[in-house]
Amino acid sequence: MIESYTRRDFVRLLVLGGAALFLPACGERPEQLETQNSAGSPDQVLNDAADSNAVDQQVEEIIEVWDNDDVVFLKQKNPEYARYKGRFNKDISKSPALIALCYTTAGVVRAVNIARQEGLDVSVKSGGHSFEGFSSNDNGLVIDLTFMNAITWENDQQVRIQPACKLAQLYDELLPAKRLIPAGSCGGVGVGGLTLGGGYGFFSRKYGLTCDSLTGLTMVDGRGRVHEVKNDHELMWACRGGGNGNFGVITEFRFKTHPAPQHFYSHRFKAYKLTVERARNLLEQYFLLSRNLPEACFSAFVLNGKTLTLLVTNYEGPHAGLQAMLDRLAELCDKTTIGNAVPLEKALKKYYGRPDPLYFKNASAGLYRSFDDVETCIDLVLEKVIQSRGLIYQVNTLGGKIDTPEFERQSCFPHRQELYLSELQAYWESESHGVELKQRFDEIQAIFVKNGIDKQYRNYPNLKFPNWQQAYYGRSYAKLQQIKLAYDPDNLFHYPQSVALPAE
Ligand SMILES: Cc1cc2nc3c(=O)[nH]c(=O)nc-3n(C[C@H](O)[C@H](O)[C@H](O)COP(=O)(O)OP(=O)(O)OC[C@H]3O[C@@H](n4cnc5c(N)ncnc54)[C@H](O)[C@@H]3O)c2cc1C
Repeated sequence: MIESYTRRDFVRLLVLGGAALFLPACGERPEQLETQNSAGSPDQVLNDAADSNAVDQQVEEIIEVWDNDDVVFLKQKNPEYARYKGRFNKDISKSPALIALCYTTAGVVRAVNIARQEGLDVSVKSGGHSFEGFSSNDNGLVIDLTFMNAITWENDQQVRIQPACKLAQLYDELLPAKRLIPAGSCGGVGVGGLTLGGGYGFFSRKYGLTCDSLTGLTMVDGRGRVHEVKNDHELMWACRGGGNGNFGVITEFRFKTHPAPQHFYSHRFKAYKLTVERARNLLEQYFLLSRNLPEACFSAFVLNGKTLTLLVTNYEGPHAGLQAMLDRLAELCDKTTIGNAVPLEKALKKYYGRPDPLYFKNASAGLYRSFDDVETCIDLVLEKVIQSRGLIYQVNTLGGKIDTPEFERQSCFPHRQELYLSELQAYWESESHGVELKQRFDEIQAIFVKNGIDKQYRNYPNLKFPNWQQAYYGRSYAKLQQIKLAYDPDNLFHYPQSVALPAE
């Protein structure tokens, strides 16, 4: 236990990576320190540790923080480092110099100050699901919020949520109280990254994007200053769609919740061994039919190689537009499964996805208003997907309340009039398959770019998007740069697609 070690012992162990910090399940603090055989004899340890005053000083500071229970710093030599280094996307490997496991806002302030002092770049991690690994870096400092995942009710409609709360945890807490926030479907995604980039899912057509339910937040900025803001503040505007690792570290969100329906229906249609012509026809029909869906419905066109799955979900009563879509899809597809009413909590779990890290490449493939946007290039795209096992082209419905003037005014999210969001996905197990799929992936993205698809979802980033500033943020970008200047004037928070300071 920590009490059985003197401060000097702990310094020695940390410097040589001999301290194993046992960090148990989410939300608990590290409680034990153990020596490791490989750390060398105590004398050796002491001599090595004495070598550098600078290191000693830094570690002394780390100890100070440890004593305060606010943050624990892990260096590459610490055995626990490997456990926190990884991300959901196994295809991306980064090695930060220091991982700051933060427990409190004060711990985040401390980590920001250490980064400024040591001249380290900073990345911020909540759920670790960034497609492009934007929540980590090489040789910098990662502010890891894994243990800041609590949910607290302020009253029966308002909640405070820490950023590393995962969606499964969110639904587990809210649904028994018959409330919800319109978040995404994958159980492992963090509330932090999801909300700051927008966030959409089954309930967005009814209640807006995840960020539209945000009523306040706490942020530590690039100078280590703490801001508590709410409602119409400019920082709220920026963090509703543009807040991912750009201005500071959000340490708490405040959300309004909405009534949760009791039951959920999932209807599925399958079509097999598709030709390009049939896939195109089905996609066109999907666009036409889904326009008449009520707000309580969500629909997705998912082409996985030669097999199509069309999903239509609903959580309210019968509706003529919904029935027309179900009837027509049943005629057009090879297999129809009309779902029964399932309790919402149980139904959502089916969409949580795999919890363990995967090899994949995913990215936005454009936001569209209608089939017209892709008409000229879709045959080429469908042909490549149909020919490639492991490639998925998906189109999801947006629309409904997402396109509300009040939400438009209060957020930097620029794509509210686009009724569809598409995504290209590739999954593989072997390296050679990965190389081939990523090449196909890039070819398809290039087709979209060539054909003028230029609006993209920030939460589905791709390092290869040309003019990503406009693609993600549209006309909001210039104002986001001014907000960057106000909160992170030294550009402490940056990664390949972070909001840049305005040109002088
Ligand atoms: C399997 C899977 C399913 C998905 N499903 C959906 C879905 O249904 N709907 C949807 O809208 N999106 C979905 N996404 C995309 C998801 O919204 C983004 O990947 C999101 O950014 C992940 O957030 P995170 O906290 O898990 O990731 P992280 O990797 O921790 O963070 C992502 C980005 O946000 C920044 N960030 C995170 N926390 C903070 C913070 N506290 N303060 C400041 N910046 C921060 C990071 O620096 C990084 O740039 C999915 C992604 C995956 C991999």
